[in-house]
This record gives sequence, C-alpha cells and structure tokens, in this order.
Amino acid sequence: MGIQVLAETVIAQIAAGEVVERPSSVVKELVENALDAGARNIKVTIQGDGRKLIRISDDGSGMPADEVELAFARHATSKLRSVDDLSDIMTLGFRGEALASIASVSQVNLTTRHKDEAMGTMLQLEGGAIRQRRAVGAPAGTVFAVENLFYNTPARLKFLKSEATEKRQIAQVITRYALAYPEVRFILEQDGREMFRSNGSGQLADVLITALGLDEFKHMLEVEDESTFDDDFTVRVTGFTAAPSLNRADRQRITLFINGRWITDTSLTYAVVQAYHTLLMTGRFPVAVLMIDIPPREVDVNVHPTKAEVRFRNPDAVFSAVQRAVRRSVIAQAQTPTIRPAHYAPRGLTSGNTWGDEPTQQIGMNLSMEGPGQFARKGDALAQPEDEAAAPDEIPVGPGAPLRPRTLPMLRVVGQVGASYIIAEGPAGLYLIDQHAAHERILYEQFMEEHARKQPMAQQTLDAQTIQFPPVEARLVEDCLDQLAQVGFELEPFGPNTFVIRAVPAMLADDDPVDVVSGIVDDLMLDRTPGQASIEDKIVLRVCKQAAVKAGQILSHEEMQGLIRMLERTQSPLTCPHGRPTMIHMSGDQLAREFGRLGAVSH
Ligand code: ADP
Ligand code: MG
Repeated sequence: MGIQVLAETVIAQIAAGEVVERPSSVVKELVENALDAGARNIKVTIQGDGRKLIRISDDGSGMPADEVELAFARHATSKLRSVDDLSDIMTLGFRGEALASIASVSQVNLTTRHKDEAMGTMLQLEGGAIRQRRAVGAPAGTVFAVENLFYNTPARLKFLKSEATEKRQIAQVITRYALAYPEVRFILEQDGREMFRSNGSGQLADVLITALGLDEFKHMLEVEDESTFDDDFTVRVTGFTAAPSLNRADRQRITLFINGRWITDTSLTYAVVQAYHTLLMTGRFPVAVLMIDIPPREVDVNVHPTKAEVRFRNPDAVFSAVQRAVRRSVIAQAQTPTIRPAHYAPRGLTSGNTWGDEPTQQIGMNLSMEGPGQFARKGDALAQPEDEAAAPDEIPVGPGAPLRPRTLPMLRVVGQVGASYIIAEGPAGLYLIDQHAAHERILYEQFMEEHARKQPMAQQTLDAQTIQFPPVEARLVEDCLDQLAQVGFELEPFGPNTFVIRAVPAMLADDDPVDVVSGIVDDLMLDRTPGQASIEDKIVLRVCKQAAVKAGQILSHEEMQGLIRMLERTQSPLTCPHGRPTMIHMSGDQLAREFGRLGAVSH
C-alpha cells in the first residue's frame, strides 16, 4: 500500500475510539454537554445496553440555528478560545471532540432550540455525514438521539462487555453526575423502566440516599474541611465518607470529584484509604463520595481525552487535604456500634442500589444516628473530678504521660462471659467488650506513642536462641533487620539462613521467641503489596496481637477494670488495630424494647 492521507471520515472513526469507547462514554459526553449548557433537568433514555438507542434531553441553553452543523466538526467548541483558557477551565468539555466522534460511529438525530431563538433545528447525521436538516418547533434545550452505535465499526462492537455490564456502567455515569450536581434533576430510564432519579434539591445527601439506599446512607459521615497551603491556595473537601462499619472488598466505591468533575486517581483514593488506618480490617475499603474544590489553575484536566484523569500542580497538598478531611470526620463522628437485632432492622427501603455490586458487609450492627456530642456529654456528666480521683485502678498510660482525654464514658465492669468478653455498664447502657481486641487496641496505641516520642522500646534480652528460615524468608528478614530493631527485636545473622534472637520487646517476655519471630515473618510474607501497612506497622500489629490477653483467658475483676480504664482513653476505642470492633453497645432503650418495657408503665 502506498502512502495516502486518510479520508476525513476514517480519521474521525479512529479518533472516536479515544473518546467513545462504549455506550456509557456517549452518555458521559452528552450529559457533560447538557450540564455545560446549564440544564436543570436531564433525562436519559436507553434501549438495551445503549447500542440501539441513547436519548438525552436537556433544558439547557440550546444551540443557535447557525451553529448546529459546526458543533459536529472536529475541534469545534464554544468553551475555549486559547490555550491560556485551559488553565482556568470551568466547563466539563473543552476539546470539541465528542460530537464529531459520536456522530462518526452512529446515526444521530438532534433537535435543539436556542433559548433566544424562535425556531429550533432538526439535524440528522449518519456516520458523521449530514442526511437531513430542517427548522422545527421545539422547546428550548436539546434532544440528542444516538442510534445504532458502532454500526459502521464492527471491530468496536466485539469489545463491548455484556449487556448487564454496559447498563451498569451507564447507571454509574448518571449516578456520579447526579452526585456532583445535586441541583440538577436527573432521570434514567432503561427499556421503559425508571432506574434512577434525583430530585434536584441541591442537597448531596438526597442524591446519596438514592444512590446508596437508606440503609447504607445511615453509615455515612459528613465531611467538611478546608486546608490552606502557602501562596493562599485552599483545598476544600466536602461530601460523605463511611463510618468503619460500612466497608467493601475493593476501592470501587471511593468516588472523587475535582471541581465537579468525576476523576480516577490512585493516589487520592489511597489518601482516603489511609485515613482509615487501623480502623478497617486489611483488605476492606471505605465507601466515600468526596467533592474536592481547588483553584482551576492548580489542576490540569487536559491529560487524557476522556478527562477522567487529572494532574495536580501540588499533588502532596491535595493528598494531605483529602486524608485530613476524611480522618477528621471518621475520628470525630465514629461511635460505638449498637446492637441492632435482626428483626428490628428496617430492611430494604431501597435495597438494590444503582451501584449494586456486592452486598454490604453487615455485622449485625448499626451506627446510631445520634450526634457525636451525645456520647461525650453523658460521659462527662458522670466523670466528675472526684470520680476520677476515686478510681483506684486508674492506670496512667506510659510512664509520666499526662492522662489522655477520655474517649469513652466511664464503664463499670459487671462480669466476664465465655472467658472472652467483658460485660460492662455505662451511662448509655450495656457494653460487651472483646477483651483481646480491646487489649490489642491499647497496646497498639501505647506502642505508637512511645515510638512517636522516640523512646527506645523496652526489651527482654535472651540466652542465644537461633531460628532458621527458608532462603526467601531469610532474605526478607535481612531486609527488615532495622525495622525489627525499631520495635525491639534484636536479630543477628548467624550462618546461612539462620539468625540469633538476642532480644524481644519486653511485653513479649512470656512468649516463645521463636514462635513470635516466625509469626512476624509469616505476616510480612503474606502481603507485600504497596499501599498496605508499612513493614514496621505490621511488626507492631503482630506484637500487639501476640501480647494481648487471649480469648479464653479468665480475668479477675481488677484486671478487667484496669483494661477498661485504659481503653477509655485510647484514641480509637471502638476498633482493634485490624479494624474489627472492640465492643457492642446496647442502649437502655434497646434493652427496654427487647423486653417489651418501652412505654409500658413499670411495675
Ligand atoms: P465540547 O463539549 O468539548 O465543547 P462537544 O463536541 O462535546 O465539544 O460539543 C461541541 C459544542 O456543541 C459545544 O461546545 C457546545 O457549544 C455545543 N453543544 C453540544 N451539546 C450541547 C447541548 N446539549 N446544549 C447546548 N450546546 C451543546
Ligand atoms: Mg462536550
């Protein structure tokens, strides 16, 4: 084949591949156009998975009659004039590619009337070529019908996923924009069935209830935070993030918007995950919907044709702003999980949600919806100074450390069940506490605190004990000798794949050092993926787990009370460092309800 410049239609089809990958990309581009046109009502109708028909009507500005054809030319846009405009772009579109791309791989039927013009225009295109045009009467706004997508590019069709997957993708696109624009009313209809509707109230919470279902929404905590960095640039983070009780097996449900634009960003997603450090079990991820607002000049949106990836001028600042905002909400608002007996659970108001992928991990608990202040107030009322002094078993945390602020009300130990759980009573009712999980939490925070104060770890020296590993593990141990020493383990290479254990952390003095060290190495081998806890953190977690009282261990009343006193002053008393709950709470009201006493005259 000799060299030839490609025909305009072929160029357009090739270029279309970048913007229009699948039916949901058409939906995305057309919804963005409607939003850019200032629409307050956007209705999307789909047949099948969208290949047959995608129809989007909006009540935005509409297009002037003399610009209708131009809109379909490549690189034709009303949103950008010079490269300089790119640095403070406020519209979702700016590349002028979408309509040309969509039209080149489908049959388009457009009806539009500009709000300042009397007559509208109807334009029909096939494979990008204009077939028909006439003036029509129409309401102000635009209706786009895209039929037989990819009819002229069979290769594309082959790459489409199953009908169900495409449909879900479309629902996801609509849900995301509805979240980003709560003031716009969205309706999605698939094969005549309404799949999604937002009410345009302007309240993110309203949209989120529709998107997640009320059951899940109850676990969401509000986020509102602002971080200002030098040269006066401010990052504002608002939205909702889940209490640790609502979590998922993957990161898919962390949804991020920059200045109203949905984006994917591995680093910022990690910032959200990091904010839950030690509050979620490894391998579990939070649900979050966050709106990040930053000055447009701080972000480059022109990185990729689909505009779903962005680049920040100062990525570290944005990372820390997001992490801080989420962490604050989670720490400030997380409360003791309360028992929710299964038969009282208000199930299934909107159980099937539009993001439906995997059922929520229900652990038979629910965060109470009372405000965060409630707990503290009741607790403070009881914790009078004289009470404080009277508590004989108050154990200060760490030598000479100032008493840490109370994070739980003062609890009175009632007894122990199954040699594993402590029953306690507090101002707000009954508490069942997992002794092992609670002790792990206490030890973990003590460890971290000493570490932060750069105190050398208390050690127990040993008569030389040797331990031998398979070669791979031995290399790993060699690599981690420093981190092990930080935590209090002194290991010394001793011949091939063998080490002498010279010292272990003091809190493990009673354990078999060989068991302890091999347990740590197992943990380190298990999961070396980046983004998980650091090596040192894993070692600390294992040490705490090992040193904590075990389930099945009978405790004296004093031991239990001492444990509870320390737990009351940990930073995150509600979860163990692996993110499992340390306690279950049942309020006085719930007890009364369970016994049918609520509202009844007591006798
Ligand atoms: P871009 O959005 O990047 O400008 P598009 O190809 O998506 O490029 O659209 C081209 C132009 O067509 C837009 O700049 C806009 O002027 C016009 N347009 C497209 N859709 C609409 C709509 N729903 N309402 C009003 N104008 C529209
Ligand atoms: Mg566009």
